[in-house]
Amino acid sequence: MNAEPPVLQVRDLVKHYSVGGGFFGRGRKQLRAVDGVSFSIGQGETLGLVGESGCGKSTVGKAVLRLVEPTSGHVSLEGEEITGLGSAALLERRKRMQVIFQDPYSSLNPRMTAGEIVQEPLINFGIGSRAEQRDRVAMLFARVGLRPDQRANYPHEFSGGQRQRLGIARALALGPSVIIGDEPVSALDVSVQAQVINLMMDLQQEFGLSYLFVAHDLGVVEHISHRVAVMYLGKIVEIAARAALFETPRHPYTEALLAAVPVSHPRARRARTVLTGDVPSPINPPPGCRFHTRCPIAVARCRQEEPALVLDASGHGVACHLRAATA
Ligand code: ADP
Ligand code: MG
Repeated sequence: MNAEPPVLQVRDLVKHYSVGGGFFGRGRKQLRAVDGVSFSIGQGETLGLVGESGCGKSTVGKAVLRLVEPTSGHVSLEGEEITGLGSAALLERRKRMQVIFQDPYSSLNPRMTAGEIVQEPLINFGIGSRAEQRDRVAMLFARVGLRPDQRANYPHEFSGGQRQRLGIARALALGPSVIIGDEPVSALDVSVQAQVINLMMDLQQEFGLSYLFVAHDLGVVEHISHRVAVMYLGKIVEIAARAALFETPRHPYTEALLAAVPVSHPRARRARTVLTGDVPSPINPPPGCRFHTRCPIAVARCRQEEPALVLDASGHGVACHLRAATA
């Protein structure tokens, strides 16, 4: 990696939700959705973030964007700490960091035309004249593979893949450096998934974008990711360059996720771990290693002592007492 500061840096990010309880909030419990997550993303880099449903991926994205207020932790965008910024200053930074959701249909205003949807951020931020805005919208439509005449259409007139292209065009309108994709292709057919992923990779090249790309399936992130982080119950349990993660996974949870998807790395197929049972509740996560209740190799220590995420010299990190980095 080069010496440039990361475009996005997240340190010790925590988000706990207060849930349940009766009248006056008595008996409320803390749900540990995200419980100390750290990573960084360089310019033009994609970090894939993977884990079963409920492990905290969306909450990481929302807390980084400050769509939810983090309980604690630090987020820096282009070298500037944005945690603690007031709403006006934060709004300004939002130009640099945009989001694409899984279901663009629910995130796109059904009463606006596609052209208006892409133009709206430019209007909100007062960028350019109306004519310049329309030129930019036309350019963005072309870049994401939508026809010029489709600017007059409404979201319901688009297919799922086209709606996701529209969501991408809107996210690009303000010229961001970071895009957080929260399962942006999970609702699409496999063939359409590949088209949208290829489009995102082309756009990354063209605009030097950095991506945090969230998916529940390792197979989905393999093609687009430079590095991959695997989350389990609010924590990153493994993080590594793509090839290292797919060819020499270390965490038993990563092995289990790999065993569940057809991936193109034959060595990974040796893993025979099959995940059984559901993810435990983040309200009372298991003591010690959170994965020990489902882990095929857990020993006594794993039930008592929480393993830290330890990175080796190559940057391959694993949080496991038995598979810790040796370097
Ligand atoms: P993922 O995106 O990996 O499926 P989420 O980040 O959506 O996971 O959720 C992580 C955990 O936080 C889940 O247990 C979920 O039920 C809980 N959670 C998410 N949002 C809220 C909220 N607004 N209030 C309470 N709990 C929440
Ligand atoms: Mg989610």
